Amino acid sequence: MKGKALVRLAGLALILGSLAWSGTVHATTPLRVGLQAGHWRANELPDELRSLRGSTGAAAGGLREHEVNLDIAQRTAAYLQQAGVTVDVLPSTVPPNYYADAFVSLHADGSANTRLSGFKIAGHYREWAASTALLAALRAEYGPASGSRWDGEHVSSGMRGYYAMSSHRFKHTISSYTPGVILEMGYLTNPNDRRLMTQGADRLARAVSDGILRFLNSKPEDGWPAPPPLPELRATVMTATANVRSGPGPKFSVVRVVNRNRTLFVSEVRGEWLKLHSYRQRPGERWIHRAMVKLERINDEPPQDS
Ligand SMILES: [Zn+2]
Repeated sequence: MKGKALVRLAGLALILGSLAWSGTVHATTPLRVGLQAGHWRANELPDELRSLRGSTGAAAGGLREHEVNLDIAQRTAAYLQQAGVTVDVLPSTVPPNYYADAFVSLHADGSANTRLSGFKIAGHYREWAASTALLAALRAEYGPASGSRWDGEHVSSGMRGYYAMSSHRFKHTISSYTPGVILEMGYLTNPNDRRLMTQGADRLARAVSDGILRFLNSKPEDGWPAPPPLPELRATVMTATANVRSGPGPKFSVVRVVNRNRTLFVSEVRGEWLKLHSYRQRPGERWIHRAMVKLERINDEPPQDS
């Protein structure tokens, strides 16, 4: 499905979801939600993620990121439990192949530019409709409640390839059937955002809880479509430049030119053409000819945090 259509579909799901919205969750079995407090107990990460044990996150104004993340995770958990949802507040280490009806990893950003402010949300770059719907529902609640600007232009590869959502590479991740996103609630390095995440922590927690409930209520009758497979290949450009096209063939338009040594992720191989994954959520497909690149499996890459 094209990105634009997906966005439209997510918008429609949101509208339908809000029509059915009554503040409680209708389900026959108890729903389970995982809330991860980013960087909390990072020193306890298992061997496969040992390179992230020192990943302690942002720090500013006498605050550490994991403290802010944990505080808001616990407040959010209380709201969800009031609505009848079972909640796991998770540290950096996610139980192997963790299954839940939704998974949200809470983070706060940091930047040397203290004027940067706002929030952003990302799902794994494989773009599963369920995760995209979770993203849209959270954004719809968190944006107005926080009064923060959407900072989507700063969604990073560390968010799109977040280790806890990379079930094709590590054991201590969510299941590939768990809708999941990472939420950067604001910049710890920005005084206004910092005040929002401390003095306004309860309001933010309420918004995260409302976003998750909105998502849980928007589940289609017959469930979410099966998640697309995760990419397993990395392509490194071997020619001086290479054309990236809008489809798998030379007649498709060139949408971008990439240079030698550029690293790309491949989601699909179709004959001589490779479909590329995009870290940024944008419409349209991107394809490259396999003669231009060297292909490798990606499980040798270091895990990504945010
Ligand atoms: Zn973080």
